[in-house]
Amino acid sequence: MPADCLFCKIINREEPSEFLYEDDTYVVFKDINPHAPVHLLLVPKKHIRSINDIQTGDESILGGLFTLAKKMAKEQGINESGYKLLFNVEKGGGQVIFHIHLHLIGGWHKRPSHL
Ligand code: 5GP
Ligand code: ZN
Repeated sequence: MPADCLFCKIINREEPSEFLYEDDTYVVFKDINPHAPVHLLLVPKKHIRSINDIQTGDESILGGLFTLAKKMAKEQGINESGYKLLFNVEKGGGQVIFHIHLHLIGGWHKRPSHL
């Protein structure tokens, strides 16, 4: 892992963050600067810089992100209202943290809990 990778530090608990989910392969935490009522970052523990750097053998990590997204969306109560999944790739694609992560963004049309 690069010594200066913020998400590796978060994964290793060298930087504070509250995990909404953790297993051997992934962590999930809230984006510090949310673009929507629900904005989670789904982060593989393996340090991969970006989609450009995935290699043969990483398919299960990448595929598992979508199963995790489905689970987290349901937990957040936005699976039916809908959400966006986004990878920013390199600087021109808006990536600022160079440790691969999937944005799960939604909650605009979340049904009020009393209905
Ligand atoms: P990117 O633009 O690289 O796809 O997304 C990086 C995301 O990480 C941004 O949306 C940014 O708000 C978020 N972020 C940056 N630093 C931190 C941090 O220290 N903690 C958390 N929870 N999110 C962060
Ligand atoms: Zn990293």
